[in-house]
Amino acid sequence: MRTVGFIGLGAMGASMARNLAKAGRLKAVWNRTASKARALAQELGVEAAATPKELARSCPIVALCVSADADVLEVIEALLPSVGAESIVIDHSTVSVQTAQTAAARLRSRGAEFLDAPVSGGVEGARAGTLVTMVGGSPEALARARPALEAVASTIVHTGPVGSGQALKAVNQVLCAGINQAVCEALALAQALGLDLKQAVAVLSKGAGGNWFLEKRGPTMIQGVFRPGFKLALHHKDLTICLALAKTAGLTLPLTQKTLADYAELLAKGHGEEDISALWRLQAKLPPSPTDRGSPPW
Ligand code: NAP
Repeated sequence: MRTVGFIGLGAMGASMARNLAKAGRLKAVWNRTASKARALAQELGVEAAATPKELARSCPIVALCVSADADVLEVIEALLPSVGAESIVIDHSTVSVQTAQTAAARLRSRGAEFLDAPVSGGVEGARAGTLVTMVGGSPEALARARPALEAVASTIVHTGPVGSGQALKAVNQVLCAGINQAVCEALALAQALGLDLKQAVAVLSKGAGGNWFLEKRGPTMIQGVFRPGFKLALHHKDLTICLALAKTAGLTLPLTQKTLADYAELLAKGHGEEDISALWRLQAKLPPSPTDRGSPPW
């Protein structure tokens, strides 16, 4: 049962590891900042591996959820000496299709399988174990990995070969950009009309314009609270991936371009570690805050 090692104990990964432990699947954890791994290992009664290589030696299934493309490839290289034909690596990070394919090729050189399994559902979904995961890779590897995936996700969809999970996740990130823009623009109108913003969020969440983002982030963003959630710098990374993918398909994605430019402005002002709902800063024309070009208020 205890066959899974988890790497990357951030906002998403720590909760996913907890749910794997709850399902009796987690054997070991590793995190770049070792103190986080030690604390979680103690909480869950599992091993804190000294290195990814050590983790892979004792865990035939390794799941990871790290920030960006270079981080995934760095972790894969660190795992390589310990993986073999019995190993499956599941990547829950959001990265490019090419990164997924490169990771799969590197692991295949050692006989190991790779699944790109990016997730959607936010930190709330990670905590509840109700994420949606879009899985690219062989059906056989997915069948072997399924019990581990079921511990973190309530919806598991096989999208096709390696990279197809990341392709669908890119589509999801385009949706998230548009929804963020629509929610901020709508609430900016409500604000300009002198409406009660708290009431607007509550009422509109129940109607045809309601959506996950308005319901979960609306109440906090109108108070100027942008605790992640989903870091703006990470969605900026995702939208760069989306635009590159769209270019290969001959599309331009104007709404995604606009969101990327808005995020770039917010990043330059030091808001990259805030939640993506910090887009409200621009739409609501919030005055520069003491946190501009500084650290967030928590
Ligand atoms: P996060 O809280 O910033 O955590 C990032 C994790 O990656 C940390 O554990 C960090 O280690 C680790 N990491 C970064 N670079 C690394 C490297 N080079 N080698 C090893 N470990 C490294 O991010 P998150 O929100 O959990 O997101 C993780 C991934 O899931 C991202 O690809 C993101 O796009 C995706 N995602 C996020 C959400 C969301 O709502 N937050 C939803 C769906 C998908 P340290 O502790 O040492 O910094």
